[in-house]
Amino acid sequence: MSTRIKPKNLSVFEKWAEKSLLDIDSAKDQGQKIVGAFCTFAPLEIIRAAGAIPVSLCGKRQEPISHAERILPANLCPLIKSSFGYAVSETCPFYNASDLIIGETTCDGKKKMFEILRKMKPFFLLHLPYSQTDAAALDLWKNQVEAMKIFIEGQTGKKITADDLQQQILKYNEQRRLLKAIAELMADHPMPVNGMDLLPVFESSSFVVDMDSYRQNLENLLHELSELKKNGVSAVPKNAPRILMTGCPVGKGSEKVLRLVEESGGIVVCMENCTGIKSFDLLVEEQGDPYHNLALRYLLTPCSCMTPNQGRFDLVSQLARRFNVDGIIDQTWQFCHTYNVETGSIQDMAANTLDLPFIHIDTDYSDNDTEQLRTRVEAFLEMIN
Ligand code: SF4
Ligand code: SF4
Repeated sequence: MSTRIKPKNLSVFEKWAEKSLLDIDSAKDQGQKIVGAFCTFAPLEIIRAAGAIPVSLCGKRQEPISHAERILPANLCPLIKSSFGYAVSETCPFYNASDLIIGETTCDGKKKMFEILRKMKPFFLLHLPYSQTDAAALDLWKNQVEAMKIFIEGQTGKKITADDLQQQILKYNEQRRLLKAIAELMADHPMPVNGMDLLPVFESSSFVVDMDSYRQNLENLLHELSELKKNGVSAVPKNAPRILMTGCPVGKGSEKVLRLVEESGGIVVCMENCTGIKSFDLLVEEQGDPYHNLALRYLLTPCSCMTPNQGRFDLVSQLARRFNVDGIIDQTWQFCHTYNVETGSIQDMAANTLDLPFIHIDTDYSDNDTEQLRTRVEAFLEMIN
């Protein structure tokens, strides 16, 4: 019988947001700009190359939603309302600290919300094309990435050189490799942590002030987890159902489905969504024109705003095999049309190609349906066993 040991190097990630806020204060005192971004499509390397610090403003909690609903329609996804609610109520310290904001034309709700948000702080909107294979789309996106660079230079007063950008490409690739190596420890038994343990590790990558210290913490964790794994330490019994979660991003405050799976005896071995592997799976090519390389890498993000979005199907299918999963949970946020429409095709792939049990959970950030979802999750895990 394996023994559950909470790895000691996890605790720094559990308190990462607090640490980040202190670091942001010092960075601002030294004249560094803070750049709020909302989405995995924002090329963070450009922000760093200008000596500024990117932070995520993607709302994951229920509390600010009532502020948003005074202005926005209630039938928008909770992520949009939470993000907007934080901004209008000025209750998110990361939003308050941001000197400028980067938005992206991903889904309709988000881009219309940005029309209001952009009046509040200096704002740059990246116009995202919806094709990942058309050469003209890549040219358009590269132009957008270059236009963002000019905006950031104007706001920070720092000229970005090709060398600055190249250095940041290397640093972010290194960070992605480490996150991926940690995620891949879950590919087989034993697994010294569970999905809830890894959530703050993955989420903390959105609030990094000092990249070197963050890298060091990731290395420490990777080393500790690798040793525990080698020694046969596992957070769960060998027969715990292994679940892949796909769909909309989740985070601290909106992790109820992940929590329910693990409270019900399963383990989320892999999150394909933007909180998980989708955000660090692809690296930026390190040779050649850095703007072309950045544009290409970010455009290939397998988000449901893309059409077609073959990359998501390929990624889910690859991960299901690599992580040897027993079932797939597709979790969507209510009123997220793009992910909700893709659900049917993901379900077909699970049944006909992967031969895996599948469940779709469409929910919001509130706790109203938690007990009902618990029953569904328990029944799903029981069916797998
Ligand atoms: S799911 Fe799509 S729109 Fe949402 S954060 Fe990820 S890339 Fe951005
Ligand atoms: S979850 Fe869906 S609706 Fe909400 S912001 Fe992301 S893509 Fe848009």
